[in-house]
Amino acid sequence: MSAPKVLLAGLFHETHTFLDETTGMDGFEILRDEELLRCAGDSSPMGGALEFASSKGWEIHPMIDFRAVPSGTVTDEVVETFWQEFQERWKPDADALYFVLHGAMASESICDVEGEILKRIRSLEGAGEMPIFGVYDLHANFSPAMAEQADALVAYRENPHTDAREAAIIAAGLLQRRFDSGNSPAMSFASPGIMWPPTGVATAVDPLKALEAAARTIEVNDVRVWSVSVNAGFGFADTADTGVSFQIVADTGVDTTGHLNRLCTLANELRLIGYPKDRLVSEVMPEVLTPAAGLTVLVEPSDNIGGGAPGDVTGCLRAVIANEIPDSAVSINDPDAVAALKSVSIGEHSKLAIGGKGSRYDEGPLELEVELLSKSDGRFELENKKSHLASLCGDFFEMGPCAVVRHGGTRILLTSKKTPPFDLGQWRSQGIDPENLNLIVVKAAVAHRAAYDPITTRSFTVDTPGPCSSNLTQFDFKHARAQRGR
Ligand SMILES: [Zn+2]
Repeated sequence: MSAPKVLLAGLFHETHTFLDETTGMDGFEILRDEELLRCAGDSSPMGGALEFASSKGWEIHPMIDFRAVPSGTVTDEVVETFWQEFQERWKPDADALYFVLHGAMASESICDVEGEILKRIRSLEGAGEMPIFGVYDLHANFSPAMAEQADALVAYRENPHTDAREAAIIAAGLLQRRFDSGNSPAMSFASPGIMWPPTGVATAVDPLKALEAAARTIEVNDVRVWSVSVNAGFGFADTADTGVSFQIVADTGVDTTGHLNRLCTLANELRLIGYPKDRLVSEVMPEVLTPAAGLTVLVEPSDNIGGGAPGDVTGCLRAVIANEIPDSAVSINDPDAVAALKSVSIGEHSKLAIGGKGSRYDEGPLELEVELLSKSDGRFELENKKSHLASLCGDFFEMGPCAVVRHGGTRILLTSKKTPPFDLGQWRSQGIDPENLNLIVVKAAVAHRAAYDPITTRSFTVDTPGPCSSNLTQFDFKHARAQRGR
């Protein structure tokens, strides 16, 4: 065939439905038309799709890309604006649609936004038989509607997501296979009825390690199978689809029930491993205080920014300050605190209410006397352009106006935008070398490991009051059906 005409669009949000906030239009970065082509060459899934398209000579028709970092329930306005703008750019004569999705987006009135949007797309002129292919995040709460409405979607295989670009290329390769062979695949999926917290689904360890390996084995052994995706799910969302699932793209008509059943059985066998038990910070502190050479990392998953938490939970900050840990650092997202330093000069002291403003689970701001060390615009270039963060933002990140303050031996990086701690450029751009610290607090579950593990001597994962606690039974689920605790 001549150069295939491929529509390109993106809709990307991991929705934490237990946060107090909603995520409106101002929470989204929106690229329209030619602006999408800016992602070419970067490490995002959109960049991967564009790279593949150009290598195969596809004629790309960029539509729209809506993306936001994980946060609270999306407003209906966002979904309807996306849909309006999508329709305005729709081309009924295109050969395919390539979609970059997250797969765990929920709005005020739609629990399964991706499924609903795919359904609406199928009703557009020319869309009935049009191949809809794409890539999505491993944390998707994959739905029956997504499997029914799209032809072939491929999940990332790594968590932390170091392979977002590669997964996008795999998905684009499947679309090329569709063009070359003329064969349409279909998706099937099944859920084992399990929900694991983000701390339980790193792919370097079981249960995800074993499940990913089983998925790759099926791909190798069954030529009728185009791809197998392991969906870890995103537990901080109260939707009927929340939880672990498996999804297979195969030749149309192939019965994949046997493969899916085996994956579900394996998940159930490994179920308990997916529930790590984080100890209270107060229990862990005596061990933290025993001296060790090199960097100690205190991981605070209850304030997992990558999972939508506010990044301003004060549990670990309080422990670090109370124990006067020298050469320590904590990053707190607090635009009010940054603004309060506006008229303060470098080297001056000031009283500041830090953090504790973004979650009902926290005990509130921590009042500290601090010295202002520096201010910046908060923009930094990623040191690792294949990182989990690159899968979200490309090559640069904007922390918003920032300030570094000091209280005793603790330096506190105050940001104005939530900054997932997945790249050390966050610190070095602010004049702080994390390798030379004694202790650093990291507000993450798993995705920080690629950046921090190489410089970490020892690491403690602790439980503090916050909206992304590994204990899923603390949340008041109404719609979710999957089992969510031991
Ligand atoms: Zn993810």
